[in-house]
Formats: sequence, structure tokens, C-alpha cells
Amino acid sequence: MTFQGHPAEAAPSPTSGRPTAARAHLFHQGTVDSYRHLLAAAVDRVAHRVADVDRPFSGVTPARLAPEVDRVDLDRPLTDPAAALDELESVYLRDAVWFHHPRYLAHLNCPVVIPALLGEAVLSAVNSSLDTWDQSAGGTLIERRLINWTADRIGLGPTADGVFTSGGTQSNLQAMLLAREEALAAVARPREDLLPRLRILTSEAGHFSVQKSAKLLGLARTAVIPVEAGPDRRMRTAALAHEIARCRRDGLIVMAVVATAGTTDFGTIDPLPAIADLCRAAGVWLHVDAAYGCGLLVSPTRRHLLAGIEQADSVTVDYHKSFFQPVSSSALLVRDRAVLRHATYHADYLNPERMAEQHIPNQVDKSLQTTRRFDALKLWLTLRIMGPDTVGTLFDEVLDLAADAWRLLTADPRFEVVTRSQLSTVVFRYLPTEHHLADDANLYAREALAASGAALVAGTKVDGAHYLKFTLLNPETTVDDIAHVLDLVADHASRYVRTKTAAETAVPPAGVAAQPCHVG
Ligand SMILES: *Cc1c(COP(=O)(O)O)cnc(C)c1O
Repeated sequence: MTFQGHPAEAAPSPTSGRPTAARAHLFHQGTVDSYRHLLAAAVDRVAHRVADVDRPFSGVTPARLAPEVDRVDLDRPLTDPAAALDELESVYLRDAVWFHHPRYLAHLNCPVVIPALLGEAVLSAVNSSLDTWDQSAGGTLIERRLINWTADRIGLGPTADGVFTSGGTQSNLQAMLLAREEALAAVARPREDLLPRLRILTSEAGHFSVQKSAKLLGLARTAVIPVEAGPDRRMRTAALAHEIARCRRDGLIVMAVVATAGTTDFGTIDPLPAIADLCRAAGVWLHVDAAYGCGLLVSPTRRHLLAGIEQADSVTVDYHKSFFQPVSSSALLVRDRAVLRHATYHADYLNPERMAEQHIPNQVDKSLQTTRRFDALKLWLTLRIMGPDTVGTLFDEVLDLAADAWRLLTADPRFEVVTRSQLSTVVFRYLPTEHHLADDANLYAREALAASGAALVAGTKVDGAHYLKFTLLNPETTVDDIAHVLDLVADHASRYVRTKTAAETAVPPAGVAAQPCHVG
């Protein structure tokens, strides 16, 4: 059989020379100089920005920024990389949210360590894909070493394994997939009969990705049963025992208990040893969501807070939260490597069964993803340059800072604090004497603060009321920064309360209704 050339290939290009120009953009032997120069220029820009940034955010609104982005004509390239970087200043860099800034106190975003940025630069240039050995070679071995290293730190035992993922959400999803399959395999009944009866028990302070996973896995709408947490915001084991028994009585199958080692809002760790005992007695899969708390694995002083995690069947870790890694960097670990078979499919073109028989290490056999970034390289270089204790020391510093912030807040009559975090969050609110204005005053203060860009704090709800939250992950943040931000919060909130109460007490002129007051 002979192949005819495609008609388009047969015709000579009307713009001879264009193909070569196009190829000048490809990264290859002939373009390494341009790679050097361009990357150096980009690094230089970011360095200048970071050196200049005086607040975590410009306060830009979507309404102001969207037209700048919309104005860009994506079909008319600037061609000059310097011009594209100039443009990037106005559509992105100028108004970016800077996690390295000491007054960024909002979400679980960490400043990143420079060794990990080295990894990021290397991995995107080499562009290995970690699905198969024949697309990654050493990359696969490095990822496997880091999985084993993490599993050892957790104490999962000799049969442990796992895989890097895009984040805690994906790790939790995969854990629930494995737990579901194990639960279904244990009962000799058709899947269709069993699926609606599967239940997942997790603390009411657990992460919403557990619910999302349940939905994706085709479970019942009521599949995730929230287990009561105590005033310390940790799962009550008595409540868990009660729910397990109730499910049994009702003919339901508890396919997993998800314990949280570091709740996103309160930084609290569920009582892992007691939960593990209950799970073992009931024969239930224990998943520990340590997306946030995994930094304790390298903490020189607080590893004991994770005691019991070694009894888990699966564990989620987010290196991009408490290991100071750039997004994304996460992993799912399992006690028994055999369970990963539930994620194994063989494609003739990629990872035929023959390869597994030959013990060719194809990570795609364990992953929900196919083409996959070599994120592990960032952690590898971090460990090889800094070492685990140094990473853990950074995490310890933010935990100490959170303890200081908590002390500051409990001593300050302007504020109310919810609970003492075991990690690095602080949930609090401004408490005006006019209690009925508390919700709106805190909502207003958060928005006003963000609009000024002077600091970013998060918000959440506790028992239906609006609260503010610090998530401290930056060792560069000082107690003075925190005190300063608290003053700003109090200023904004009290201004709101003053304006509101003035409007409420003002006597409207006869016949004219009081106008609602808009502060801001
Ligand atoms: C952040 C978080 C997740 C989700 O992780 P992503 O990396 O954002 O997908 C899951 N569980 C907990 C407890 C978290 O804090």
C-alpha cells in the first residue's frame, strides 16, 4: 500500500519562509539562546514586580479589569515578546493577587519556595508526561520515590503506594472511587442495588469536595452524612459511632469515613486514633483528608498532631498548601497498593497489559489523569536543596504566628474568636455593641479591605453568622501585620456601624421615607 501526499502538502506554500519563522518559536536545539533570553526577561519582570509590590492586591474590580482583557485581539499577535510582556503587566501582573505579601491572609495559598520554582522551570521546559515510562523515564522514578517518602512519613507500611494529583479535590475524588469499589466488591449484590445505599460519613466541618465526589461517583443525593463536630470543631467520635450504627440499622452501607486533618476553616484535626478504632471495628474504609495538615509530616515540633494518620486506608496531601509548593502539587496515598487497580485501564496505544507484566512502571495505571505534569520535580528539588526539616520549620513558624494572632484577638474586646486552631487559621468577627449589625459590618469590612488592597482576609459562616478568617501561611507575616490588619478591619466595620445607626436614629422629615444608607 502506498500513501499519497495530502493535497495541501503538495501545493507550495504561498508564503515561503513562514514555516521557518514559525519554527523559531519552538524550543529546540536551534533556539536555546532565545529560550535563555526570553525566560531571563520574564524572570526579571516578575522579580521587579515582587520587589515593588506594596500591597497584596490592587483592589481592581472585574468591571474595571475585564475591558482591558477584552480589548486584546487574540488574532493579531504583537510578535515582539517584550511587547507581550508589557501587555501582560496591564492584564495580569499589575493587578495580580500576591500570596507572598505579608498581609495576604485570606485563603490556603502559600508563598512558594525558590527551589520549587526551579523545578517548575525545568519541568515545563522538558515537558515530561508522567502517564508512562516511555514519556518520562526518570520522572516516573522520581515521582515514585516521593510517593514512597510521603507514605513513609505517614507510616502507611510496606504495601503503600499512591500517585501525584492536581489537588486535594482530585485526591479526595480518587480516594472515594477506591473506597466505593472496595465497598461494592465486598457485597455479592448487583452494583445498581448497592449504589443508592452507600454512605460517606464526614465531619460537618469537612471539605465540600467530598460531596462533589459523591455526586460524581453516582451516589445518592443524601450519601454524605455530616457528623456533628464539638465546640472545638473536631468530629465527635460518639456522634460518628452513632451514625455508623444508625446506617447499619437502616440497611445502609458506610463505604468510607472521611476524617479531616486540618479543616479548611478552623484548622482543627479530627481525633484520628479514636476514629481509626471505630473504622477498624466496623470494617469501614478510613480516608484522612490532610490537604491542609500534611505540613505536620515535616514539622520538627508538631508531628504528633497527626498521630493516628498511619491507620488510614487512604490519605490526601496538598504540597501546594503546607509544603510551600506552587500550584499544582498534591498526592493521594493508599495503604494497599492493590486498590489502585480500580483506576487501571489498559489502552493498546499507551499502556498495554503486556507492559504491566514486564513491570514497566506506568503511573497512568494508578491515576485518574492521562497526560500529567511532572509536579513531583518541584518537591524533589525542594527536598534536595532545603531538606524536610527546613520546610517543616517554615510551617511551624506560621503555626506559632497563628497562636500569637489568637492571643491577640482573645485579648481584644472589639473581636470575638471562634476556636483555637491546631494549625494556622483564625476565625473571628468584629463585635459591635449593636449586635444586629454584626453580620453586615463584617461583610462590609471584608469588602472594603479588599477594595483598598491593603490586606486580604477571608470570610466564612459559623452557625449561620458571618465571620472573618485569617489563613496564615506566610512566615514573613508578623504579629504587627496582624495587629495592623485588625485595626483596619475594626475601622471599616465601626464606620459601617456608625453610618447605619445614624441613619436608623435620624428622624425623617414628615412625609419622606428614610432612605437606605449605602456605605462605601
Ligand atoms: C483545600 C482543601 C481541599 C481541596 O484541595 P484543592 O487542592 O484545592 O483541590 C480538600 N480538603 C481540604 C481539607 C482542603 O483544605
